[in-house]
Amino acid sequence: MKGQINVSVENIFPLIKKFLYSDHEIFLRELISNATDATLKIKHLTQIGETKVEYGDPKIEVKVDKDAKTLHVIDQGIGMTADEVKKYINEVAFSGAEEFLDKYKDKMEGSGIIGHFGLGFYSSFMVADKVEIHTKSYKDEAAAHWSCDGSPEFILEEGTREQRGTEIILHIGADDVEFLEENRIRELLVKYNRFMPVPIKFGTREETIPLPDDAPEDAKPETRTVDNIINNPEPAWTKQPKDLNDEDYLNFYRELYPMQFEEPLFNIHLNVDYPFNLTGILYFPKLSNDLNLQKDRIQLFQNQVFITDNVEDIVPEFLTMLRGVIDSPDIPLNVSRSYLQADSNVKKISSYITRKVADKLKTLFNNDREDFEKKWNDIKIVIEYGMLSEEKFFEKADAFALYPDVDGNYYTYDELYNKIKAKQTDKDDKLVILYASDTDKQHSYIAAARDKGYEVLLLDSPIVSHLIQKLETSKENISFARVDADHIDNLIKKEDEAISKMTDEEKTKLDELLKDIIPSEKFTVQLEAMDSQAAPFIITQPEFMRRMKEMQQTGGGMFGMSNMPDMFNLVVNTNNDLVHAILNTKTRKKQERLINQGLDLARLSQGLLKGEELTSFIKRSYDMIK
Ligand code: ADP
Repeated sequence: MKGQINVSVENIFPLIKKFLYSDHEIFLRELISNATDATLKIKHLTQIGETKVEYGDPKIEVKVDKDAKTLHVIDQGIGMTADEVKKYINEVAFSGAEEFLDKYKDKMEGSGIIGHFGLGFYSSFMVADKVEIHTKSYKDEAAAHWSCDGSPEFILEEGTREQRGTEIILHIGADDVEFLEENRIRELLVKYNRFMPVPIKFGTREETIPLPDDAPEDAKPETRTVDNIINNPEPAWTKQPKDLNDEDYLNFYRELYPMQFEEPLFNIHLNVDYPFNLTGILYFPKLSNDLNLQKDRIQLFQNQVFITDNVEDIVPEFLTMLRGVIDSPDIPLNVSRSYLQADSNVKKISSYITRKVADKLKTLFNNDREDFEKKWNDIKIVIEYGMLSEEKFFEKADAFALYPDVDGNYYTYDELYNKIKAKQTDKDDKLVILYASDTDKQHSYIAAARDKGYEVLLLDSPIVSHLIQKLETSKENISFARVDADHIDNLIKKEDEAISKMTDEEKTKLDELLKDIIPSEKFTVQLEAMDSQAAPFIITQPEFMRRMKEMQQTGGGMFGMSNMPDMFNLVVNTNNDLVHAILNTKTRKKQERLINQGLDLARLSQGLLKGEELTSFIKRSYDMIK
């Protein structure tokens, strides 16, 4: 019989070709999805006893015939009767086509399309001039043969297929001959189908037959030809967590990312059926500090069919740094980004994943704290980023987020709080948490704080200034100060102020002298009556400005800050004998030399002495010890 496909869009195929140009390759995924569905349907029917046919051990076969310029997708599934071909192919598939095109035309402008899943059977016309179907239903009926050359006309006649199932034959068009290359097809099968649930055969391969135990020593093993199955129909995420051990998870990671040689730190198995369906395994990789180098990303599947590795709107942003797979049929595709973000299932999925990750981290921390501490450096970026970006995660992270001190001890926030509460609360009842970002560079400041019996944290991740800001606003009455932000007595101000050994008159004189000699565009002079044993000159960098600058460099903070010059204070200890001696030195020339020497020493301990200034410091120092 000849017929006319009932479509109102005039000649649908050129449109499909034009609109979906860049995505031609997905036709194969669609055809294999159909073949898989057809196979699983027959499996279901045999399981519920609806049919007497044997399920057997069905495969899907993909074949290229370069000479005939055809590509074949063959399944042993449920098949179709002639009536079903009429109904499903001519009506269902093509009404789907129209619907899709209508939707697609609207969305074209915003190009919000994510994938083109659901395109179905007719996507074969993206690459084929002519498509044939040879099919035989599991019901005892004659085989059918359908063919269509891309016009709305089709031919449906009695077919010749003897076995149950369906063979789709694509006569590949001149523009798409790439799909007649075995390597190209293999690449596509690996990309989209490598975890699909029915074995997919693509050619054959040679396999050595293992020798029996009692084989003579010089026996040569023989080879045999076996089907080349390109997929693993039972990937780890489809199994129950209780049936998997650490080795299985690791092996699956290697299967997913064969080019990754570093082992992941730990994994998280996701498994929910209600109120949405989601399975998957996420891995925490060892992250390098260069976050832009991320190319092995989380892969999204639907019923074991690969969809995309762009999961940005589905997984909370901080978790896009993880690796692994998620599989959910409940994530809408073919929709715009804004629609996706507003979708209630997607929101639930995203918060479920966040919760699961937090719970897993908590369990790991509780079960083996030592190991967790060891891994902290490699996972802190993800955790800190999560604390900054997801309020729920921030709350949960209190149980496992760690704050290391400069000696390598790790505290949770509560532990830290209790440890330092007594000593580091200032006269206004504010708890001051001291930290360093570099133990070498800030050594003298750390030492000064430790002399007072204070605890100093080592916070060195790139986004730590943001985290500190967040902690200050969400915890009561605390503030963070980097050890070099001011003199230690000023960082944690206590009731008892040191008594000044200088008269007001002397102070004015000293202030004038210093301002005369020290370049005011570089340092703000600050006279302080401190412990007489404390250094005479100290360079500090006020916390607020520095932090705002850092925050802006990593996104955020106050606008315009990153272009501001660094601000430093020169704290001069008016109780130090050397400062008195300088003030009482007779000649102005000598005073200048001593002040410059003091300033340079202070610079040296902040790592600020460089270039010409360093050269003249060295020269001056030799002169002084001559
Ligand atoms: P969808 O798969 O989204 O339903 P398609 O256009 O891909 O849409 O296919 C339309 C219908 O044709 C399917 O629902 C199915 O009933 C039938 N069909 C397609 N391919 C096969 C196949 N290989 N075996 C049996 N039935 C098939």
